[in-house]
Amino acid sequence: MIKRRKTRKVKLGNLFIGGDAPILIQSMVKVPTSDTRKVISQIRRLEECGCEAVRLAITDAEDISSLKKIKKSTKIPLIADIQFHTSLALKSIEAGVDKIRLNPGNMKKKGLKEIAHLAKERGIPLRIGANSGSIDLHPHLPPPPSRGRNEEGGIAFSLVKLVDDWVKFFEDLGFFELVLSLKTTAVEEIISAYRMMAKRCDYPFHLGITEAGMGRDAVIKSSLGIGILLQEGIGDTIRVSLTEAPEEEVRVAQEILQSLGIRSFYPEIISCPTCGRCEIDLPKIVKEVKKKLLTFNFKPSTLKIAIMGCVVNGPGEAKQADIGIAGGKKNGLLFKKGKPVRKIKEANLVEELLKEIKELSTTADTRR
Ligand code: SF4
Repeated sequence: MIKRRKTRKVKLGNLFIGGDAPILIQSMVKVPTSDTRKVISQIRRLEECGCEAVRLAITDAEDISSLKKIKKSTKIPLIADIQFHTSLALKSIEAGVDKIRLNPGNMKKKGLKEIAHLAKERGIPLRIGANSGSIDLHPHLPPPPSRGRNEEGGIAFSLVKLVDDWVKFFEDLGFFELVLSLKTTAVEEIISAYRMMAKRCDYPFHLGITEAGMGRDAVIKSSLGIGILLQEGIGDTIRVSLTEAPEEEVRVAQEILQSLGIRSFYPEIISCPTCGRCEIDLPKIVKEVKKKLLTFNFKPSTLKIAIMGCVVNGPGEAKQADIGIAGGKKNGLLFKKGKPVRKIKEANLVEELLKEIKELSTTADTRR
Protein backbone atom coordinates (compact mmCIF):
# COMPACT_ATOMS: atom_id res chain seq x y z
CA MET A 1 0.00 0.00 0.00
CA ILE A 2 1.48 3.34 -1.06
CA LYS A 3 1.61 5.92 1.70
CA ARG A 4 0.94 9.30 0.14
CA ARG A 5 2.84 12.37 1.20
CA LYS A 6 0.66 14.61 3.36
CA THR A 7 -0.23 17.79 1.50
CA ARG A 8 -2.62 20.68 1.65
CA LYS A 9 -5.85 20.24 -0.27
CA VAL A 10 -6.38 22.74 -3.06
CA LYS A 11 -9.78 23.26 -4.70
CA LEU A 12 -10.02 22.82 -8.45
CA GLY A 13 -13.55 23.54 -9.70
CA ASN A 14 -15.73 20.79 -8.27
CA LEU A 15 -12.67 18.64 -7.41
CA PHE A 16 -9.61 18.84 -5.20
CA ILE A 17 -5.87 18.35 -5.68
CA GLY A 18 -3.84 16.91 -2.83
CA GLY A 19 -4.83 15.86 0.68
CA ASP A 20 -7.02 12.76 0.52
CA ALA A 21 -8.29 13.52 -3.00
CA PRO A 22 -7.62 10.87 -5.67
CA ILE A 23 -4.59 11.55 -7.86
CA LEU A 24 -6.12 13.59 -10.65
CA ILE A 25 -5.53 13.04 -14.38
CA GLN A 26 -5.02 16.06 -16.61
CA SER A 27 -4.45 16.58 -20.30
CA MET A 28 -4.18 19.54 -22.62
CA VAL A 29 -6.30 20.60 -25.58
CA LYS A 30 -4.25 20.40 -28.77
CA VAL A 31 -6.15 22.78 -31.03
CA PRO A 32 -6.17 26.61 -30.85
CA THR A 33 -8.41 27.80 -28.02
CA SER A 34 -10.00 30.30 -30.41
CA ASP A 35 -11.53 27.38 -32.34
CA THR A 36 -14.42 27.00 -29.89
CA ARG A 37 -16.16 24.15 -31.71
CA LYS A 38 -13.05 21.98 -32.02
CA VAL A 39 -12.02 22.65 -28.41
CA ILE A 40 -15.44 21.69 -27.04
CA SER A 41 -15.44 18.50 -29.08
CA GLN A 42 -11.91 17.59 -27.89
CA ILE A 43 -12.88 18.27 -24.26
CA ARG A 44 -15.92 15.97 -24.65
CA ARG A 45 -13.72 13.17 -25.98
CA LEU A 46 -11.27 13.72 -23.13
CA GLU A 47 -14.06 13.58 -20.56
CA GLU A 48 -15.40 10.37 -22.10
CA CYS A 49 -12.06 8.64 -21.75
CA GLY A 50 -11.63 9.73 -18.12
CA CYS A 51 -9.75 13.04 -18.16
CA GLU A 52 -10.52 15.04 -15.02
CA ALA A 53 -9.06 18.48 -15.72
CA VAL A 54 -8.18 20.14 -19.02
CA ARG A 55 -5.52 22.74 -19.73
CA LEU A 56 -5.84 25.23 -22.57
CA ALA A 57 -3.24 27.52 -24.11
CA ILE A 58 -4.34 31.14 -23.86
CA THR A 59 -2.48 33.36 -26.27
CA ASP A 60 -4.70 36.33 -27.20
CA ALA A 61 -8.04 38.13 -26.85
CA GLU A 62 -9.71 35.73 -29.30
CA ASP A 63 -8.83 32.83 -26.99
CA ILE A 64 -10.36 34.67 -24.04
CA SER A 65 -13.62 35.22 -25.89
CA SER A 66 -13.69 31.53 -26.85
CA LEU A 67 -12.80 30.54 -23.28
CA LYS A 68 -16.01 32.11 -21.96
CA LYS A 69 -18.10 29.95 -24.34
CA ILE A 70 -16.06 26.82 -23.59
CA LYS A 71 -16.50 27.34 -19.86
CA LYS A 72 -20.28 27.47 -20.26
CA SER A 73 -20.29 24.21 -22.23
CA THR A 74 -18.47 21.97 -19.74
CA LYS A 75 -18.27 21.10 -16.06
CA ILE A 76 -14.74 19.69 -16.22
CA PRO A 77 -12.26 22.03 -14.47
CA LEU A 78 -10.41 24.24 -16.95
CA ILE A 79 -6.84 25.41 -16.46
CA ALA A 80 -5.56 28.42 -18.37
CA ASP A 81 -1.95 28.25 -19.48
CA ILE A 82 -1.11 31.92 -19.88
CA GLN A 83 2.63 31.72 -20.57
CA PHE A 84 3.86 35.14 -19.36
CA HIS A 85 0.91 37.47 -19.97
CA THR A 86 -0.50 39.09 -16.85
CA SER A 87 -3.49 40.54 -18.69
CA LEU A 88 -4.39 37.12 -20.17
CA ALA A 89 -4.21 35.56 -16.72
CA LEU A 90 -6.52 38.21 -15.27
CA LYS A 91 -8.98 37.90 -18.16
CA SER A 92 -8.92 34.09 -17.92
CA ILE A 93 -9.82 34.28 -14.24
CA GLU A 94 -12.64 36.68 -15.07
CA ALA A 95 -13.79 34.24 -17.78
CA GLY A 96 -14.26 31.65 -15.02
CA VAL A 97 -11.28 29.28 -15.31
CA ASP A 98 -10.64 27.02 -12.35
CA LYS A 99 -6.86 27.34 -12.20
CA ILE A 100 -4.02 29.32 -13.76
CA ARG A 101 -0.78 27.74 -14.80
CA LEU A 102 2.17 30.10 -15.00
CA ASN A 103 5.91 30.18 -14.83
CA PRO A 104 6.61 33.12 -12.49
CA GLY A 105 10.25 33.29 -13.58
CA ASN A 106 9.07 34.65 -16.92
CA MET A 107 6.87 37.38 -15.43
CA LYS A 108 7.04 40.71 -13.65
CA LYS A 109 6.39 40.71 -9.90
CA LYS A 110 3.80 43.49 -10.20
CA GLY A 111 1.75 41.32 -12.58
CA LEU A 112 2.10 38.27 -10.34
CA LYS A 113 0.76 40.27 -7.40
CA GLU A 114 -2.32 41.28 -9.43
CA ILE A 115 -2.90 37.66 -10.49
CA ALA A 116 -2.55 36.36 -6.93
CA HIS A 117 -4.94 39.03 -5.68
CA LEU A 118 -7.66 38.17 -8.22
CA ALA A 119 -7.13 34.40 -7.87
CA LYS A 120 -7.57 34.73 -4.11
CA GLU A 121 -10.70 36.79 -4.56
CA ARG A 122 -12.18 34.14 -6.91
CA GLY A 123 -10.93 31.20 -4.84
CA ILE A 124 -8.89 29.53 -7.57
CA PRO A 125 -5.40 28.01 -7.30
CA LEU A 126 -2.24 28.80 -9.23
CA ARG A 127 0.09 26.16 -10.55
CA ILE A 128 3.53 27.65 -10.35
CA GLY A 129 6.72 25.99 -11.35
CA ALA A 130 9.89 26.09 -13.25
CA ASN A 131 11.48 24.03 -15.93
CA SER A 132 15.15 23.47 -16.57
CA GLY A 133 15.03 26.15 -19.30
CA SER A 134 14.13 28.77 -16.68
CA ILE A 135 17.13 28.11 -14.47
CA ASP A 136 19.31 30.62 -16.25
CA LEU A 137 16.77 33.31 -15.43
CA HIS A 138 17.56 32.99 -11.74
CA PRO A 139 20.19 35.57 -10.76
CA HIS A 140 21.59 33.61 -7.79
CA LEU A 141 22.34 30.33 -9.52
CA PRO A 142 25.58 29.36 -11.22
CA PRO A 143 25.64 29.14 -15.03
CA PRO A 144 24.94 25.71 -16.61
CA PRO A 145 28.53 24.58 -17.38
CA SER A 146 29.42 24.48 -13.68
CA ARG A 147 26.43 22.30 -12.78
CA GLY A 148 26.17 18.56 -12.48
CA ARG A 149 22.83 16.83 -12.26
CA ASN A 150 21.58 16.40 -8.74
CA GLU A 151 24.27 17.76 -6.46
CA GLU A 152 24.09 21.20 -4.88
CA GLY A 153 24.08 23.70 -7.74
CA GLY A 154 22.92 20.95 -10.14
CA ILE A 155 19.79 21.18 -12.26
CA ALA A 156 17.45 19.42 -9.80
CA PHE A 157 18.77 21.46 -6.88
CA SER A 158 18.50 24.70 -8.87
CA LEU A 159 14.91 23.94 -9.85
CA VAL A 160 14.00 23.37 -6.22
CA LYS A 161 15.69 26.59 -5.15
CA LEU A 162 13.90 28.52 -7.86
CA VAL A 163 10.45 27.14 -7.01
CA ASP A 164 11.09 27.55 -3.29
CA ASP A 165 11.81 31.25 -3.81
CA TRP A 166 8.56 31.69 -5.74
CA VAL A 167 6.59 29.84 -3.07
CA LYS A 168 7.90 32.34 -0.52
CA PHE A 169 6.98 35.21 -2.83
CA PHE A 170 3.34 34.04 -3.01
CA GLU A 171 3.20 33.22 0.69
CA ASP A 172 4.37 36.75 1.48
CA LEU A 173 1.36 37.96 -0.52
CA GLY A 174 -0.87 35.79 1.66
CA PHE A 175 -1.53 33.35 -1.19
CA PHE A 176 -1.36 29.66 -0.32
CA GLU A 177 -3.55 27.94 -2.97
CA LEU A 178 -0.52 26.66 -4.87
CA VAL A 179 0.23 23.54 -6.86
CA LEU A 180 3.90 23.11 -7.70
CA SER A 181 5.68 21.64 -10.67
CA LEU A 182 9.35 21.12 -11.45
CA LYS A 183 10.09 20.14 -15.01
CA THR A 184 13.04 18.82 -16.91
CA THR A 185 13.19 16.28 -19.71
CA ALA A 186 15.47 13.98 -17.68
CA VAL A 187 13.79 11.35 -15.49
CA GLU A 188 16.64 11.26 -12.96
CA GLU A 189 16.55 15.05 -12.45
CA ILE A 190 12.79 15.16 -12.04
CA ILE A 191 12.83 12.43 -9.42
CA SER A 192 15.59 14.17 -7.47
CA ALA A 193 13.91 17.56 -7.73
CA TYR A 194 10.51 16.37 -6.47
CA ARG A 195 12.09 14.34 -3.67
CA MET A 196 13.95 17.46 -2.48
CA MET A 197 10.88 19.69 -2.82
CA ALA A 198 8.74 17.18 -0.91
CA LYS A 199 10.95 17.71 2.12
CA ARG A 200 10.57 21.49 1.97
CA CYS A 201 6.82 22.08 1.80
CA ASP A 202 3.35 20.56 1.97
CA TYR A 203 1.94 21.96 -1.29
CA PRO A 204 0.46 19.43 -3.73
CA PHE A 205 2.56 18.52 -6.77
CA HIS A 206 1.75 18.27 -10.46
CA LEU A 207 3.86 15.52 -12.04
CA GLY A 208 4.91 15.13 -15.64
CA ILE A 209 7.94 14.58 -17.81
CA THR A 210 8.06 17.59 -20.03
CA GLU A 211 8.33 17.03 -23.81
CA ALA A 212 8.55 13.27 -23.31
CA GLY A 213 8.08 12.70 -27.03
CA MET A 214 6.15 10.06 -28.92
CA GLY A 215 5.42 6.34 -28.80
CA ARG A 216 7.14 3.72 -26.68
CA ASP A 217 10.10 5.90 -25.60
CA ALA A 218 7.81 8.60 -24.30
CA VAL A 219 5.52 6.17 -22.49
CA ILE A 220 8.46 4.43 -20.80
CA LYS A 221 10.07 7.72 -19.81
CA SER A 222 6.82 9.09 -18.39
CA SER A 223 5.91 5.85 -16.65
CA LEU A 224 9.28 5.66 -14.95
CA GLY A 225 9.45 9.31 -13.89
CA ILE A 226 5.86 9.60 -12.74
CA GLY A 227 5.62 6.01 -11.50
CA ILE A 228 8.70 6.08 -9.28
CA LEU A 229 7.51 9.28 -7.59
CA LEU A 230 3.96 8.00 -7.16
CA GLN A 231 5.30 4.78 -5.62
CA GLU A 232 7.07 6.99 -3.06
CA GLY A 233 3.79 8.75 -2.31
CA ILE A 234 4.81 11.92 -4.17
CA GLY A 235 2.39 13.48 -6.66
CA ASP A 236 -1.21 14.68 -6.58
CA THR A 237 -2.09 15.33 -10.20
CA ILE A 238 -0.43 13.97 -13.33
CA ARG A 239 -0.17 14.74 -16.99
CA VAL A 240 1.59 12.45 -19.42
CA SER A 241 2.90 14.78 -22.13
CA LEU A 242 2.89 12.96 -25.47
CA THR A 243 3.29 14.12 -29.04
CA GLU A 244 0.04 12.30 -29.71
CA ALA A 245 -3.73 12.72 -29.31
CA PRO A 246 -4.64 13.94 -25.81
CA GLU A 247 -6.84 10.86 -25.24
CA GLU A 248 -3.66 8.78 -25.42
CA GLU A 249 -2.15 10.90 -22.63
CA VAL A 250 -5.17 10.07 -20.46
CA ARG A 251 -4.99 6.33 -21.20
CA VAL A 252 -1.29 6.18 -20.32
CA ALA A 253 -1.93 8.15 -17.12
CA GLN A 254 -4.70 5.70 -16.19
CA GLU A 255 -2.42 2.75 -16.90
CA ILE A 256 0.31 4.21 -14.68
CA LEU A 257 -2.13 4.68 -11.79
CA GLN A 258 -3.74 1.28 -12.32
CA SER A 259 -0.39 -0.56 -12.60
CA LEU A 260 0.61 0.85 -9.23
CA GLY A 261 -2.72 -0.16 -7.70
CA ILE A 262 -3.54 3.49 -6.93
CA ARG A 263 -6.77 3.73 -8.96
CA SER A 264 -8.82 1.35 -11.12
CA PHE A 265 -10.27 2.34 -14.46
CA TYR A 266 -10.80 -0.76 -16.62
CA PRO A 267 -10.38 -4.52 -16.41
CA GLU A 268 -6.81 -5.67 -15.96
CA ILE A 269 -5.63 -8.04 -18.68
CA ILE A 270 -2.96 -10.59 -17.93
CA SER A 271 -1.58 -12.45 -20.92
CA CYS A 272 1.39 -14.74 -21.38
CA PRO A 273 4.25 -13.90 -23.76
CA THR A 274 3.49 -17.14 -25.73
CA CYS A 275 6.05 -19.78 -26.66
CA GLY A 276 6.33 -22.93 -28.75
CA ARG A 277 3.48 -24.55 -26.77
CA CYS A 278 0.88 -21.99 -27.85
CA GLU A 279 -1.55 -23.31 -30.51
CA ILE A 280 -3.81 -20.27 -30.87
CA ASP A 281 -3.10 -16.76 -32.22
CA LEU A 282 -2.87 -15.25 -28.74
CA PRO A 283 -1.41 -11.81 -29.71
CA LYS A 284 -4.32 -11.27 -32.11
CA ILE A 285 -6.89 -12.30 -29.49
CA VAL A 286 -5.41 -10.06 -26.77
CA LYS A 287 -5.13 -7.10 -29.17
CA GLU A 288 -8.76 -7.41 -30.24
CA VAL A 289 -10.06 -7.81 -26.69
CA LYS A 290 -8.09 -4.76 -25.50
CA LYS A 291 -9.29 -2.67 -28.43
CA LYS A 292 -12.93 -3.61 -27.87
CA LEU A 293 -12.72 -3.02 -24.12
CA LEU A 294 -11.86 0.63 -24.77
CA THR A 295 -15.27 1.03 -26.41
CA PHE A 296 -17.12 -0.45 -23.41
CA ASN A 297 -18.62 1.89 -20.90
CA PHE A 298 -18.10 -0.03 -17.68
CA LYS A 299 -15.33 2.05 -16.15
CA PRO A 300 -14.16 1.96 -13.43
CA SER A 301 -13.63 -1.76 -13.04
CA THR A 302 -11.44 -4.01 -10.95
CA LEU A 303 -12.08 -7.10 -13.08
CA LYS A 304 -9.07 -9.29 -13.77
CA ILE A 305 -8.94 -11.15 -17.07
CA ALA A 306 -6.29 -13.77 -17.92
CA ILE A 307 -5.66 -14.74 -21.54
CA MET A 308 -3.10 -17.56 -21.54
CA GLY A 309 -1.58 -19.58 -24.35
CA CYS A 310 -1.67 -23.20 -23.16
CA VAL A 311 -2.55 -25.67 -20.43
CA VAL A 312 0.90 -25.54 -18.81
CA ASN A 313 0.55 -22.18 -17.01
CA GLY A 314 -2.85 -21.17 -18.36
CA PRO A 315 -5.27 -22.83 -15.91
CA GLY A 316 -3.37 -21.51 -12.88
CA GLU A 317 -3.58 -17.88 -13.99
CA ALA A 318 -7.07 -18.31 -15.46
CA LYS A 319 -8.37 -19.69 -12.15
CA GLN A 320 -7.03 -16.72 -10.22
CA ALA A 321 -8.70 -14.22 -12.54
CA ASP A 322 -12.40 -13.28 -12.69
CA ILE A 323 -12.49 -14.58 -16.26
CA GLY A 324 -9.75 -16.58 -17.93
CA ILE A 325 -8.84 -18.50 -21.03
CA ALA A 326 -6.30 -21.32 -21.18
CA GLY A 327 -5.45 -21.98 -24.81
CA GLY A 328 -5.60 -25.48 -26.30
CA LYS A 329 -5.37 -26.87 -29.84
CA LYS A 330 -7.21 -24.16 -31.84
CA ASN A 331 -9.53 -23.60 -28.90
CA GLY A 332 -9.56 -22.20 -25.38
CA LEU A 333 -10.96 -23.40 -22.07
CA LEU A 334 -13.00 -20.67 -20.40
CA PHE A 335 -12.73 -20.17 -16.61
CA LYS A 336 -15.13 -18.06 -14.57
CA LYS A 337 -14.40 -17.20 -10.96
CA GLY A 338 -11.83 -19.98 -10.77
CA LYS A 339 -13.93 -22.75 -12.36
CA PRO A 340 -13.61 -24.27 -15.86
CA VAL A 341 -16.86 -23.59 -17.74
CA ARG A 342 -16.61 -24.64 -21.40
CA LYS A 343 -14.35 -25.04 -24.41
CA ILE A 344 -14.62 -22.34 -27.09
CA LYS A 345 -13.34 -22.55 -30.68
CA GLU A 346 -10.46 -20.15 -31.42
CA ALA A 347 -12.55 -18.28 -34.02
CA ASN A 348 -15.17 -17.44 -31.35
CA LEU A 349 -12.82 -16.70 -28.43
CA VAL A 350 -12.84 -12.88 -28.69
CA GLU A 351 -16.60 -12.61 -29.06
CA GLU A 352 -17.35 -15.08 -26.24
CA LEU A 353 -14.79 -13.55 -23.92
CA LEU A 354 -16.20 -10.05 -24.44
CA LYS A 355 -19.73 -11.34 -23.80
CA GLU A 356 -18.62 -12.89 -20.51
CA ILE A 357 -16.71 -9.73 -19.50
CA LYS A 358 -19.77 -7.59 -20.23
CA GLU A 359 -22.00 -9.88 -18.19
CA LEU A 360 -19.66 -9.98 -15.23
CA SER A 361 -18.88 -6.27 -15.35
CA THR A 362 -22.51 -5.27 -14.71
CA THR A 363 -22.07 -6.77 -11.24
CA ALA A 364 -18.41 -5.81 -10.94
CA ASP A 365 -16.91 -3.94 -8.05
CA THR A 366 -17.05 -0.25 -8.89
CA ARG A 367 -14.47 0.95 -6.42
CA ARG A 368 -12.41 3.84 -7.69
FE1 SF4 B 1 4.09 -20.76 -23.19
FE2 SF4 B 1 1.88 -21.75 -22.16
FE3 SF4 B 1 3.45 -20.17 -20.66
FE4 SF4 B 1 2.05 -19.13 -22.65
S1 SF4 B 1 1.22 -20.11 -20.81
S2 SF4 B 1 4.19 -18.77 -22.24
S3 SF4 B 1 2.07 -20.74 -24.14
S4 SF4 B 1 3.94 -22.17 -21.45
